[in-house]
Amino acid sequence: MDISFILNELGEDREHYFNAVAPPIIQTSNFKVDKVDELKKLFEDEFSGYLYSRGLNPTIEILRKKLAALDGAEDCLVFNSGAAAIFASVLANIKSGDHIVSVEKPYTWAQRMFDVVLPRFGVSTTYVDGTKIENFERAILPNTAVIYLESPNSWDYQLQDLKAVVDLAKSENIITIIDNSYCTPLYQKPIELGIDIAMQTATKYISGHSDTLGGVLTGSKKMMKKIFDSEYLNIGSGIQPFNAWLLIRGLRTLQARLERIARTTQGVLSYLKQNPKTESVLFPLDESFPQYELAKKQMKGACGLLSFYIRARSRQEITDFCESLRHIMMAVSWGGHESLILPKCASLTPNEFDPKNKEHRMLRLYVGLEDADYLISDLDNAFKKIYER
Ligand SMILES: *Cc1c(COP(=O)(O)O)cnc(C)c1O
Repeated sequence: MDISFILNELGEDREHYFNAVAPPIIQTSNFKVDKVDELKKLFEDEFSGYLYSRGLNPTIEILRKKLAALDGAEDCLVFNSGAAAIFASVLANIKSGDHIVSVEKPYTWAQRMFDVVLPRFGVSTTYVDGTKIENFERAILPNTAVIYLESPNSWDYQLQDLKAVVDLAKSENIITIIDNSYCTPLYQKPIELGIDIAMQTATKYISGHSDTLGGVLTGSKKMMKKIFDSEYLNIGSGIQPFNAWLLIRGLRTLQARLERIARTTQGVLSYLKQNPKTESVLFPLDESFPQYELAKKQMKGACGLLSFYIRARSRQEITDFCESLRHIMMAVSWGGHESLILPKCASLTPNEFDPKNKEHRMLRLYVGLEDADYLISDLDNAFKKIYER
């Protein structure tokens, strides 16, 4: 299916709403039925039609169709946040006494779920260095139910060989889940590689405007129905119609935004790499990246999220650098229109800071929709402020 068709037309039955180009926000909690037998059918299977907006809703339906098609998946569920999507995907596939193998350093709230929530229900997690398939092989136990992946992750961009993990998981009857937020379905298609559930936070690139949260799961119709019937309806964390409408709007420009951001990122990367104050950069599609070959093989592109290490002698220098930026904002998140900086040392006290520890001097930069020159001059001014005093 053409991406242009998916983004502009798929799921949009415009003749049902006055041929309006933009879809309506069906802001309703419930839907009337005309026949008792219709009601009976909906009670038996709420995934089959409109009954109540904690379940299905027509505005959200449009979004689901588009997101499933982008991933090459049969079906899709959209949640109120990425964290809710992660939680539902794992919860639906484990029971008390089960074991999970997760890639190390997964997204904060995935890790919190593994470390704090699931142990209360007798579910344990083993973290593995996901750069080597042997580590997954060694970690699998007879009660392993789920392998949880994030490739690349959103700090140091470590990858897993998805095909190899899928082959291993299938031979052991283990469900695979991946956080695909970094690449989006435009640049990596885990479902086509055989992953069971692809998750992404829609808060980032799908929304693209830093004005709503959302989370996506795609997979087989059977898997989506399983999650819908239990976690989706029970936790009640499905996306709201207005937020779904914002995500449909975000999708219109997804491809254009990603292409522009990918180009700008190349310019910013070149600038950082030639700057003597940069020790090194981390970006999956840069030749210096340790897993560059695998990244080229498995990803069609990478966008605006990169990290770099600056040659700072103290935490104060990094603080001064970040606080001297006039346009690049200091904030969590990424994927929106605005460029952002996040220093790793924000979680350290000045005494804990060790300039010999490279990780302490790491900064994560998200390149947004601004012009490359505008961002480069902002970075350049901030570098000058700290090194030319
Ligand atoms: C932001 C993020 C999430 C969580 O998404 P929310 O919508 O904020 O709940 C999950 N994974 C990655 C990689 C993220 O960056």
